[in-house]
Amino acid sequence: MRHLFTSFAAFLVLTFVVVGGLAFTFSPANASPNAASAEPSATPARSKKPVTAERELALTDGEFDGNELIKPDAEWKRELSGPAFYVLRQEGTERPYTSPLNDIKKDGTFYCEACGLALFSSKAKFDSGTGWPSFYEPLFKKNVKEKIDRSLDEERIEIECARCHSHLGHVFDDGPEPTGLRYCMNGVAMRFKAAK
Ligand SMILES: [Zn+2]
Repeated sequence: MRHLFTSFAAFLVLTFVVVGGLAFTFSPANASPNAASAEPSATPARSKKPVTAERELALTDGEFDGNELIKPDAEWKRELSGPAFYVLRQEGTERPYTSPLNDIKKDGTFYCEACGLALFSSKAKFDSGTGWPSFYEPLFKKNVKEKIDRSLDEERIEIECARCHSHLGHVFDDGPEPTGLRYCMNGVAMRFKAAK
């Protein structure tokens, strides 16, 4: 009799474990393997984004501090406009005479359109007649990076933003005094902020 009772008790325990386990498995919280997708999304929905002509960009003045900002192109593609992505991340060149930055004669600073690092002062801007914003020197030598570009027959020196390594343009040695250099930049790769 005791043996029977023990067996029955064991049966009860087993039943409890099995049924309990099943109930847990099929409980609503675990019913969907995609339950996590109901969590708030890390990126806000597109529709909630305010419509602005210019994307928000934190501008950094002064000499580059050496802290690089390297991001995958997929991330830049989400952030930048199509033409800006083409120039900055795919080393494209904008059509000459298309940038509104060509005509800027006000005092101010030109920043990297990708990361916001200060690149050129309006004081070094000159009219090169090329159709691209041109400067005879960068704001700080440390803020731009030179790279050999062999994409054309002639070897050119490409200019990148020192912080985010985005393509900005090229530098040539036919510029005006005092440096004799011509930094030939793509306007779409930069953002201008007038001095106060
Ligand atoms: Zn940059």
